[in-house]
Amino acid sequence: MLYIVATPIWNLEDITLRAINTLKEVDLIACEDTRTSSVLLNHYWIKKPLLSFHSHSWVTKIDKIMDYLQNWKKVALISDAGTPGISDPGYILIKEAILQNIEVVPIPWVTAFTTALMWSGMQMNHFLYLWFLPIKKGRQTLFKILLERRESKLSETIVIYESVHRILKTLTELWEYFWTDHNIVVARELTKKFEEFLRWSISEILLYFEENPSKLKWEFVILF
Ligand code: SAM
Repeated sequence: MLYIVATPIWNLEDITLRAINTLKEVDLIACEDTRTSSVLLNHYWIKKPLLSFHSHSWVTKIDKIMDYLQNWKKVALISDAGTPGISDPGYILIKEAILQNIEVVPIPWVTAFTTALMWSGMQMNHFLYLWFLPIKKGRQTLFKILLERRESKLSETIVIYESVHRILKTLTELWEYFWTDHNIVVARELTKKFEEFLRWSISEILLYFEENPSKLKWEFVILF
């Protein structure tokens, strides 16, 4: 049995009882970074064998995990933060388990983008989650496609993830492509003590970061 277990995006209390009980029951926990996952597991007194399964190692690890599963062992897949598979190779393991007729059980909870959507006050029934924007190839084409969707009056909220390294570049390009006077939402340090939500126009947000460079840290979700 393969359990796909959502874990907190930061605040260790954001985890379900079912997730904790499942992690206590399995034979193996496949995680991205064993050190990161150990913080959560130690907090809940969970002692289980860990196997790192991340974007650099999944090819060599997938057979080992499938061996466990084929031998009727229980395996939990967790990511460094949030829902496994969103921004990590988890879906490759899920796909392989399905191919090999292994039962897959989702233990759901938090993702960064649903957390940001909850605060945003923006359209939540229709949203387009795009993960990270392409860094180079396809970036401008994607902006043009999004602009066309907007001009066709689609009312969906567009949700993207962004790192501290590219947040200013991305906001500046959004400002160039999209209207400037409408408010967008930028969320950072979600579920942390200094969680911050900004709901201003892009130019106001850029100005805020220019005047408060110390806020340019951690990770971001942008909704527009
Ligand atoms: N699996 C995660 C999820 O379920 O949302 C996504 C992990 S992805 C590798 C990392 C990106 O998610 C970050 O660059 C950021 O855009 C977003 N993110 C994750 N945790 C966040 C947080 N606490 N605050 C703001 N953004 C966060």
